[in-house]
Amino acid sequence: MSQSVIIDGKHLADQLKSEIAVEVKKMIDQGYNPPHLAAILVGEDPASETYVNSKEKACKEVGFISSIYRFESGIGEKKLLETIDFLNNDEEIDGFIVQLPLPEDISVDKVLERIKPSKDVDGFHPVNIGKMVINMPCYLPATPNGILQIIEKYKIPTEGKNCVVLGRSNIVGTPISILLSRKGYPGNATVTLCHSKTIGLKEICRNADILIAAIGQPEFVKADMVKEGAVVIDVGIHRIADSSKKSGFRLIGDVDFSKVSLKTSMISPVPGGVGPLTIVSLLQNTLKAARKEIYK
Ligand code: NDP
Repeated sequence: MSQSVIIDGKHLADQLKSEIAVEVKKMIDQGYNPPHLAAILVGEDPASETYVNSKEKACKEVGFISSIYRFESGIGEKKLLETIDFLNNDEEIDGFIVQLPLPEDISVDKVLERIKPSKDVDGFHPVNIGKMVINMPCYLPATPNGILQIIEKYKIPTEGKNCVVLGRSNIVGTPISILLSRKGYPGNATVTLCHSKTIGLKEICRNADILIAAIGQPEFVKADMVKEGAVVIDVGIHRIADSSKKSGFRLIGDVDFSKVSLKTSMISPVPGGVGPLTIVSLLQNTLKAARKEIYK
């Protein structure tokens, strides 16, 4: 079998960021303010800190304004909801995100529901999720939208294909399973959504033409779970200790890349696969928010 194509998410993300930067320049030339993305960060989770910093860096690259609202983990639900109300009403801010996870005393559902759908550029509000399900214009959740962009860019056929999604989270597994089963392209796939109660997982995976792993278990997907010639998209991100790295860690995914990539026709690596596209999707949603493309 010929060698697997390794999906270059970084390169694709750079291309899409250049396109966004051109649009931002046009807005400025026409006398508009550049898009403004805000992020709320609660606590000191190192992974969340890294994500928010990379979002800020990406904003700079494309010419957006960005602001970060940092709070200690003891902020409490009431104060956080008040901050959300403040950002909902701040006309200078086009869109904002609340970086997850949140401390246990704060209800994620309450927080996400409080964000105005028109500023919910993460696409997590029930209104945006509902619109996504019935194929109405909305902000698509960032990671699933990033996966769709990979599928489009690499012209991965989806119609009539067996697509298996591992993991049913609200932010990745469930939305991507809906998006790939909708009419159109990418879509028209026959999707199986697996979770911790699925029986016969290995057999189900072996039947997949497209396997999307968003399970949160390091290198869970082994070569014997993958059909020869399948496309594998790895969403997982895990830090593992590595003394040979300056940072002291390296990133791996939910897929045993070195062995699985010997069987696939196409595979996304970690890092450099889905991750960079997630951030780009957030920028694209913020651009849409600034132009009032979805909510007038
Ligand atoms: P969650 O961690 O919230 O959920 C994991 C899902 O996998 C659940 O549905 C769970 O089932 C299922 N699961 C866990 N263990 C098993 C098992 N042994 N067999 C079958 N199913 C199992 O998922 P997320 O989507 O939030 O995150 C998944 C991964 O993706 C993480 O590594 C995360 O860091 C990464 N991620 C990466 C992003 C990116 O930009 N690249 C963005 C978001 C997440 P059940 O529902 O039954 O508990």
